[in-house]
Order: sequence, then structure tokens, then C-alpha cells
Amino acid sequence: MTITAEDIRRDIREKNVTFLRLMFTDIAGTLKNVEVPATDEQLDKILDNKMMFDGSSIEGFVRINESDMYLYPDLDTWIVFPWGAENGKVAGLICDVYNPDGTPFAGDPRGNLKRALHKMEDHGFSSFNLGPEPEFFLFKLDENGVPTLEVNDQGGYFDLAPTDLADNTRREIVNVLTQLGFEVEASHHEVAVGQHEIDFKYANVLEACDNIQIFKLVVKTIAREHGLHATFMAKPKYGINGSGMHCNMSLFDKEGNNVFYDPKGEMELSTTAYEFLAGLLKHAYSFTAIMNPTVNSYKRLVPGYEAPVYVAWAGRNRSPLIRVPASRGKSTRLELRSVDPTANPYLALAVLLDSGLDGITNKLTPPAPVESNIYVMTDEERKAVGITDLPSTLRNAVKALQEDEVVKDAMGEHIYTNFVEAKRIEWASYAQYVSQWEIDNYLELY
Ligand code: GLN
Ligand code: MG
Ligand code: MG
Ligand code: MG
Repeated sequence: MTITAEDIRRDIREKNVTFLRLMFTDIAGTLKNVEVPATDEQLDKILDNKMMFDGSSIEGFVRINESDMYLYPDLDTWIVFPWGAENGKVAGLICDVYNPDGTPFAGDPRGNLKRALHKMEDHGFSSFNLGPEPEFFLFKLDENGVPTLEVNDQGGYFDLAPTDLADNTRREIVNVLTQLGFEVEASHHEVAVGQHEIDFKYANVLEACDNIQIFKLVVKTIAREHGLHATFMAKPKYGINGSGMHCNMSLFDKEGNNVFYDPKGEMELSTTAYEFLAGLLKHAYSFTAIMNPTVNSYKRLVPGYEAPVYVAWAGRNRSPLIRVPASRGKSTRLELRSVDPTANPYLALAVLLDSGLDGITNKLTPPAPVESNIYVMTDEERKAVGITDLPSTLRNAVKALQEDEVVKDAMGEHIYTNFVEAKRIEWASYAQYVSQWEIDNYLELY
């Protein structure tokens, strides 16, 4: 798909677009935007890469004395939002962030992913594809419009509840996504009450990450219209499943072949697939801080809630960190199950790509697959087959990240430094907080 400036000008006229939203993602993974009226003058400026903004107020971006940044729109990301037409339509473009001297800004996670993709091309591959499976909760708003933890359905996995509000909300989300050009492959109620999953078709990783950002915006917007709050936090409620964002990954060569597939290989997987898998496993402990970047993420990575806890892989078995779903041929893929939707997709996928490529460069061999249920094994049994734990807290995860040169390199110096600093502050703030759990367990006992 190639969208031209002419297509955009025509769309603006024909669809009565009155505002343009220029979007980019900060280091924390939050979608940001500057909105300008859709006048010819503004549009010329945007298309000419002359749109300036002050980067100093964006967390982790730049210091005050070097705050001018430029937004270079990626025309292929053009979308006209289907809502809010009372003042004319709003349309948007996802942008790369550039320095005033015309070089890509090192703190831009989308630009950083592009750097990882250039490295991939040097390895002779043409496309790294991602099929994400984001999960989220829908909670009621109170009378003041503030989100509660109250769900409005009692559904479970794949449940059908045609009359409930959440079901209608999910259906409208899917309709809007379809209008925006998403190919939704599955939409279903998840295991926990109030929890949902919507899967969309895989795409090259850059497009897929853009899609994740737009997806979250759509889910939150439509939920609001139905008086609900959509949250992508990893574990909003104790005692029930948290929300993951399984990442299905595949790698293609220039001829358009899926290089993970080999009909003659063990499990019909190629040597490249095994090496990529081995790279992921090797860096799994240290890249967890990127895949699970919040204090709360680690409350999901515990036994009993279908989230991974150990570093292992398998074919059929769903309990490990990495699974190889049954489809082969063009759909041959590796599914990483630890990622949660609070991860910055651009950053997460740059790190996953580089970790996999490290496995290919160093011709790594993965350990044997684990087809039994890891959760019922004893510590000794796990130790005997070399299964290790994932980090149990954000603090441990960030410490491990600091030791891994491949992961650091995949983030780039600027993002790495700012990420670690932000997470250090986040952990320190959490560590000082006295929670209800402590009051419940200690106040009367001591
Ligand atoms: N919600 C689970 C998780 O935290 C996944 C459940 C599923 O998709 N089977 O990863
Ligand atoms: Mg799924
Ligand atoms: Mg799921
Ligand atoms: Mg899955």
C-alpha cells in the first residue's frame, strides 16, 4: 500500500476532514499527538517535514536546550477517524521524529525499530512479521466518569452473551477497526470476567506496531462512548487472569518465503527458526524489562493464570514462554507469551528481532522442548532440565537488562539510558508505598 500526498488531499476534501493529528510514540510507549487544522497551508508544511514541536516536555525525549524536534509523517499510516464528525472529521498520520539537522532522533522508538530492520536486511532477510494478540479489560465508569474495577459481564473464555454491553462494545470496536482497514481475525471474550481479546492479521513489524497503537486508541475511544473504561494494564485485578499480548513472529526472505519453515526439518522447522528461538531464549531473562515494563506486569507473571513464569519452549504445550503454533508453511511462527500490552511495541519488537538475529549470527541451539506441564514440576525437576525463572520483579528485570549488551544495543544508547532511569524512579516510588496487603497482614499481627 502506498498512499500519496494527492490521496491525502483528496480524502481531506471528500471526507470533510477539519483536523489533522500528527502522532508519535514516546519511550514509555504512549501515543502522543499534535493536532492542527487541516488547511492547505498546514498540510503543505506537514508534507514538507516542517512540522516542529517542543520535545522537552515529552518524558525521556530531550533536554530543554535541545528541544526542537521535527515530525516526518509516514504517508502510508494515513487514517480518517470514523468518530467525532460534529466539527468535521479528524484524520491522522504516524510520524518519525527528527532532529533539526535532518537526522533521525535517537530517542524515537519507531525510528529505533527502523534501525533494527536495516540490520535485519543486512542479514539477507526482507521482512519480520508480527501478529499480536492484545487482551484488555472493560470496566464500568462511576457517575463522575471515573473508572472503577467493576465489570459489566460475567462471561468467560469464548462465552456468548449477545445482549450484554461488553459484547456490543467489542462488536463496535471490531466494526471501527474494520473501517480503518484492520483485518480482524478473532474477537472473543477472554478467560476472566470483563476481559476481551481482539486479534488482527499479521503485518510487517512496523505496520503491526503502528496498528497496535491505533488499536489501543480505538478500543479506549469506543469503550468511553459506551460508558466503559478499557485498560491494557497487565493485572488490574488480583485472583483472576491478567492481560497479555502474545506476539507471533516470523521472518521472510527476499523471495517471500517464510524462513522458519522447512518441511524436512525437525517439527517442520528450519535451522534458522531454531537459531532465532535460541536467541530469544538466551535473552529472555534480560529482555523481560522491555516486554513487561511496569511494577504491575510482574503480578501477571505468576503461576495459575496462563501467563508464563519460566524460560522454556514447546510445540503443543501452552504453559511455556515460547510456543510454536501448529500452522506451517507461510504461517510458521514463534509465539512469545510473556509480552503484556503495557510494553512499547516498537521497542519490544526491536529487542525481539535483535535477540533472534543474535541466535542466527552465533548459530545457537535451543534446549529441548518441554511438552509437560511446567507448573506441576518440582523445582528440582525444572532445574534438572535447565528451566530457569523469569524475573519476579521490575527491579530484578531492570538489573538484568543492564547486563545484556545485545538488548542494550537493540534499544540504542539514548532510549536505554532514559528507560532505565525512568524504571529506577518507578521502582523506588513503588517500594516506598505501603499497600493494603501489608495493612491487612501486619497491622493487627504486630
Ligand atoms: N490472559 C493470559 C495471559 O496473561 C493468556 C490467556 C490466553 O490467551 N489463553 O497471558
Ligand atoms: Mg489468543
Ligand atoms: Mg488470549
Ligand atoms: Mg496466543
